[in-house]
Amino acid sequence: MPSPQELLHKIYGYKDFRLHQADIIQEILNGQNALVLMPTGGGKSLCFQIPALLLDGTAIVVSPLIALMKDQVDSLTQLDISAAFINSSLSSQEIYRIQNQVIQGKIKLLYVAPERLMMPDFLEFLTKIKISLFAIDEAHCVSQWGHDFRPEYLKLSELSETFPNTPRIALTATADEVTRKEIRTKLKLLDSKMFIDGFDRENIEYSIVLKENTKSQLLSFLKQQNPSSAGIIYCLSRNKVEQISEFLNYKDFTSLPYHAGLSPEIRNQNQQRFLQEEGIIMVATIAFGMGINKPDVRFVAHLDLPKSMEAYYQETGRAGRDGLPAKAWMVYGLGDLILHKKMIENSGLSSLQKQVETRKLNSLLGFCETTECRRSVLLNYFGETYPKKCNNCDSCLFPTELWDGTREAQMALSCVYRTKQIFGANYLTNILRGILDQRIQRFEHHLLPTFGVGSVHNQITWTSIFRQLVASDYLTVDIEGHGSLCLTGKSAAVLKGEQKIYFRKDLISKDVLVKTKSTTRKENYNLDEESNKIFQALKLTRMKIAKSQQVPPYVIFHDKTLIELASKRPKTLGAMLEISGIGESKLNKYGLEFLASINQTQ
Ligand code: ADP
Ligand code: ZN
Repeated sequence: MPSPQELLHKIYGYKDFRLHQADIIQEILNGQNALVLMPTGGGKSLCFQIPALLLDGTAIVVSPLIALMKDQVDSLTQLDISAAFINSSLSSQEIYRIQNQVIQGKIKLLYVAPERLMMPDFLEFLTKIKISLFAIDEAHCVSQWGHDFRPEYLKLSELSETFPNTPRIALTATADEVTRKEIRTKLKLLDSKMFIDGFDRENIEYSIVLKENTKSQLLSFLKQQNPSSAGIIYCLSRNKVEQISEFLNYKDFTSLPYHAGLSPEIRNQNQQRFLQEEGIIMVATIAFGMGINKPDVRFVAHLDLPKSMEAYYQETGRAGRDGLPAKAWMVYGLGDLILHKKMIENSGLSSLQKQVETRKLNSLLGFCETTECRRSVLLNYFGETYPKKCNNCDSCLFPTELWDGTREAQMALSCVYRTKQIFGANYLTNILRGILDQRIQRFEHHLLPTFGVGSVHNQITWTSIFRQLVASDYLTVDIEGHGSLCLTGKSAAVLKGEQKIYFRKDLISKDVLVKTKSTTRKENYNLDEESNKIFQALKLTRMKIAKSQQVPPYVIFHDKTLIELASKRPKTLGAMLEISGIGESKLNKYGLEFLASINQTQ
């Protein structure tokens, strides 16, 4: 029997296991259960695929979505590993045929949805076959706290009783503690080993910019990206998704919309194009998410604030699964804050749940407003310490400062108080700046002592002050009014001069743009001109093969493999085996074609 290490090299074409992979594989080979917590792109699939290859029988892989199953089976087929899925996309004859193959011991990995797995007929079928292991992918779906709760996952606890001697491995990229605990309890994995890898996604560059003019900010962000980069743009509403997508197409980008209001056919069609073509920008609500295994998503942009740190981490985590540089970019402003506070208030949740939601939102706001390294704040939130500066987030790349805004905070709060807590930030800003408009005149607010006291600051600064006061709960939003700001229990101490207040000096996009230009951009993965030419040629070869097989290009080879091919330019098939991601099967299938492509371009 080969060792796991040998399989890793021979089949997958990788040199070494990452972090806990080898230990996890050994644990399963020893017949134990395991819970695996690894960030997206960490390499969870190998943890059950390799034991499945080494153990007798068929591995049953529980996966929540048809798209995920198909993707994995496509990838395994490329490696000449016999894998199949059974789900509602197949006819009963096809299902029958696959079940027969399983009975004959011809399938090493069988993917199924949880609802199918627990059907009496299917359980009956399972008792007839030899099962090597159960892998429960996306195990956070068992958690009601999580973001993708699937009631059918709860039934999976029965596996421990029906198949007490078959190893079970549950895997997830969820970083939060509550969900982890729930997985352990609900899936009856309390006694099994838990393998936790750090949740840092070091290849993702985080940045959050002040929302000024969303569309033009988005355009300048997109212009900095490589035109062949695929990306996802998240918006809160269906309407905005449509608008932004149309706008981008008008500006000569290729973009597609995705939201729950579109028919399943259109959604599916758009998703397929996103997976199979290059350079597509998907503009989407959060309905577009799980099931996106595409490894080469180069950026995730948020035009609206997500609802929590968990959501932000999940959504941005869809960028750069292949480990190559990727960007998480968000525009954020006072309007987002007001909207989210109102949404919680109007949600119809119990007051306890509202408190939980508010706490979650506040953590995210703290993250948006921080002047510290974003990565350290993000990881701290998930209980990890990250003591250094990452040099791959906007706080590290373009540091901002805090300024003592105690006096300004007093001016703002007292202006709110004197105008009876019924006005919004724009109106209050005009009073503070001493701008005598008709409304101010009508309400006689130019006679207030606060009129004009803040005229040294411009509108942007005052908006920033109000935003930060709301974000840190010195002001709150009246849900009845149109964004009227009111005092909170924390306001009095500031007004009485008992507390100092510091604000972040927001960078406006003009400043950031200038600074971005002066730093080197990680474009073309540091390939020189010659290598880049070869890389582009290899991409064309890959696209041709992918099209003929109707699979996404990344199923043939990841960009990482093509980049290594382009820079090392192997001359023989033997030398090609040294490239990461090229194992024996892929070498046999595609080696000659890619060698030719390298030779012709040189
Ligand atoms: P996850 O399911 O954790 O998001 P995957 O299992 O899809 O991640 O793996 C992400 C990528 O990393 C895949 O392309 C996979 O082939 C690759 N990978 C996994 N393990 C290794 C390894 N030990 N060495 C190199 N690449 C690996
Ligand atoms: Zn940083």
